[in-house]
Amino acid sequence: MSSDSDATMRDERKSTVRTLVLEEFGRMALADRPIPDVANGDVLIRVAFTGICGSDIHGYTGHNGRRAVGQVMGHESSGTIEGFGPGDQPHGLTIGDAVTFNPVVLPVEDRVEFADREQHSPRKSVIGVDPTRNASFADYIVVPAVNVLRLADGMPVEHGALVEPTAVALHAIRRAGVIGHERVLVIGGGPIGQSVVLVLRALGVPEVYVSEISPGRRSLIEGMGVPVIDPSAGDLVEALGRHGGPVDVTIDAVGSSRSLADALACTVLGGTVCLVGMGEPQVRLDAFQISTAERTLVGSFTYSARDFADAAELVADNPVTAASLISRVIEPESADEAFMNLANGDEIPGKVLVAFAQSAEYAK
Ligand SMILES: [Zn+2]
Repeated sequence: MSSDSDATMRDERKSTVRTLVLEEFGRMALADRPIPDVANGDVLIRVAFTGICGSDIHGYTGHNGRRAVGQVMGHESSGTIEGFGPGDQPHGLTIGDAVTFNPVVLPVEDRVEFADREQHSPRKSVIGVDPTRNASFADYIVVPAVNVLRLADGMPVEHGALVEPTAVALHAIRRAGVIGHERVLVIGGGPIGQSVVLVLRALGVPEVYVSEISPGRRSLIEGMGVPVIDPSAGDLVEALGRHGGPVDVTIDAVGSSRSLADALACTVLGGTVCLVGMGEPQVRLDAFQISTAERTLVGSFTYSARDFADAAELVADNPVTAASLISRVIEPESADEAFMNLANGDEIPGKVLVAFAQSAEYAK
């Protein structure tokens, strides 16, 4: 193909940028939108893969109130750099680089004050949540260069879409104070729970247990070499008793009254429970399980820029486990159906990725 027609194709592609628009709660459709301007300090990324997050599904149905009609969602992505805004080219980034991006964007004036705790900036905007930004269920996205992270050499591009959920997991594990020798229970074996297991295994935590109801998810996690308990088969504390009793740390990746009660009951006196799941906005807590038992209950939400960069390394270093967490790769045309099925409880054990670039371009 001549370079002339390459240029034409590129232009055509740019003028018809496909985006997945949340047309109304419960319905998403492909629509062409103009490509956003690439300002000074910004990077234009051609999106390859964007993962469907639990929060996107609850946004799709309208249940979490954290997404708006007309919005283009998507915050777990990988792709390649297609261009830069005017001005100096950002240091260390080159056109064609395979990248992911950290969706937590800070105004320039907050970057020093909130260094290493970017998620605490009250003026942060989260790509994929902020309805005024076109996010990455789209062919292209524009992201500040400071949020762009080059993938390790040889890392499969689709694994770049796992960095964001892995950063959520790593942050929760750090918030829980896990050093590496603890016995840890993970409640909820969905994509976040699975990422927590990936990180705990990568950190060399010797004893990890997971509680998960779905048989498909249980077998996916067992494939990672971790014992999984079915909490619907009996009392979780009793079941854990057969694995050496209460644990030092529990990560609650569900976030309901039931899961928190289980988490507290399964954790030793003086131990820590980390709440990262967002299953219910209000929960009931047994106060004495915290006060008299001197347990620490900590919250965890998103991640710092450092967590994000460290998560990218963990995913790069564990390609076999990362690959096992991707259950399905779908075309954008099938996304609405996939969202609908996931919202209706479709049993897909791991991550579903929407492939925006031609899959042949990223064939391994
Ligand atoms: Zn997410």
